[in-house]
Amino acid sequence: MVRYYSTRGAVTEGVPFSEALLTGLAPDGGLFVPDRIPELPRALPVEDFPALAHGVLLPWVDASFPDAVLADVLQDALNFPVPLVPLSGAGWEGVYVLELFHGPTLSFKDVGARTMARLMGHLVRQRGEELTILVATSGDTGSAVADGFAGQEGIRVVLLYPAGKVSPLQELQLTVRRPGVETYAVAGTFDDCQRMVKGAFVHPDLQGMRLSSANSINIGRLLPQMLYYIQAGLQQDAPPVFVVPSGNLGNLTGGVLAWLGGLPVRYFVAAHNANDFFPRYLQGEDVHPGPSRRTFSNAMDVGAPSNFERLVHLLGPVRLRAHVRGYSVSDADTLTRMRRLYEETGYLADPHTAVGLEVVRRMREEGEQHVPIVVLSTAHPAKFPEIVARALSEVTPEAEALERLKTRPRDAKPLEASTEALVQVLRSSEARLQM
Ligand SMILES: *Cc1c(COP(=O)(O)O)cnc(C)c1O
Repeated sequence: MVRYYSTRGAVTEGVPFSEALLTGLAPDGGLFVPDRIPELPRALPVEDFPALAHGVLLPWVDASFPDAVLADVLQDALNFPVPLVPLSGAGWEGVYVLELFHGPTLSFKDVGARTMARLMGHLVRQRGEELTILVATSGDTGSAVADGFAGQEGIRVVLLYPAGKVSPLQELQLTVRRPGVETYAVAGTFDDCQRMVKGAFVHPDLQGMRLSSANSINIGRLLPQMLYYIQAGLQQDAPPVFVVPSGNLGNLTGGVLAWLGGLPVRYFVAAHNANDFFPRYLQGEDVHPGPSRRTFSNAMDVGAPSNFERLVHLLGPVRLRAHVRGYSVSDADTLTRMRRLYEETGYLADPHTAVGLEVVRRMREEGEQHVPIVVLSTAHPAKFPEIVARALSEVTPEAEALERLKTRPRDAKPLEASTEALVQVLRSSEARLQM
C-alpha cells in the first residue's frame, strides 16, 4: 500500500491515502508525494475507462476503499467519454487531440474533481462525519469542484467568487443551484476571496469544524489525472509525445506519474502562455516564481505553479529537464493558431488547447518528426465565446451542456469581503437549511 509523505520532509512516517486526501496539504505546508510508484497492471481494458481507472488506482488507495467501493466511485465519477481525435490536414499527420472536456463543466478538471469528491464522500459517510469544503475561485476550478461535490451526503460546499469579476458564462456555471452547495458573490477581488478562505482555516471560532479546500494540489485530484494518459498511450503503437497546456502543472504531474508507473512516453511538453516561469526553468534559467499575467488562456494564468515543488521532488532537476520540454506562447500566436487550425483541419480548439497546438507547429518547424503527438485538450471552445469570436468571427461554438444550464435556477448570495463575514456564514446552520 502506498503511503504519502511531504515534499518538505516533516511527515517522515508517511500517511495513508485517506488522510492525505482529507487534509490536502501536508502539515508542514508541503505537498503529499507517494513513497513509491506502483507499476501499472499488465492487462488494462483500454475500451472501458472506469474499469481501467480501477485497475490503475487500486494500489494507490488504502483499506478504506475496498475493491467494490472504488469500482462504484469510478463508475459514477468517470461517466463521460475521453475521445482521442486524430487531426487531418497538411502538416497535422500523427497529431491527436485528447478531448478531456466532455464532463459536466466542460473542462478537464471534471475528471479530478468528480473523482476526488466521490472518494471524500465515501470517507465522510463511512466515518459518520461532516465536512465543509471552502473554495475561492476566479472562474474555472470553482464550478468543477462545486459540481463534483454536489449531492455528496455529509459534504457542504461554500464557494466564493469575486462579484462582477468573472465572465457571464463563468458566473452562470458558478451560480446554478446545486444540492449541498452555497455560492457567495463577494464584494471584492479574487485575492480577497482567497484571503477569507485562508483566514477561516485558522479562525478560533471554527476549530471544531472539519474544513477542507479540495484545491488542485490534493492527491485525490492529481491521481485520476494519470488515467487518460494511460488510456491514450496504450492505444498507440509507439510511445507518444504528450503536449500539456499547463498552469499549476497538476495535469502534467498526472502524466509524469503514469510514466513513472511504466507507461511508455517519448517525452512531455509543458505548453504555457505568457506565464513562462516553468519553460524558463526547463531552459536552465535561474528564474523565480512571480505574479501572474492575464492572458486569453486564463485558466493557465499562474505565476507560481503549485505543483512545481512536487514535480521537482518526483524527478529531480536533471531528469525533469531531460523528460519535459517547455514552451511559452503569446496571445497573438494563440489566436492565429485557432484560426489557422480551423482553416486547415476544420477543428475548433479553445484558447488553452490552442496554446498546445501552437507548440506542436513550433516543434515540427524545429524538425521534430516524431509521431504520435497527443495534445491534451483541456476545455470546450464554447466556454470562451469572446475569444473564439476574436480568432474566428464566423464561428459560434455551442455546447448543449451550457445551453441546459441557462434554464436551471440560480442561487448566489452577496457577501462582504471579510473573514468575519465568512465565519458567520460557516457558523450558521440556517445557511445550510436554505439549501
Ligand atoms: C486548470 C486548467 C489548465 C491548467 O491545468 P494545470 O493542471 O493547472 O496545469 C489548462 N486548461 C484549462 C482549461 C484549465 O481549466
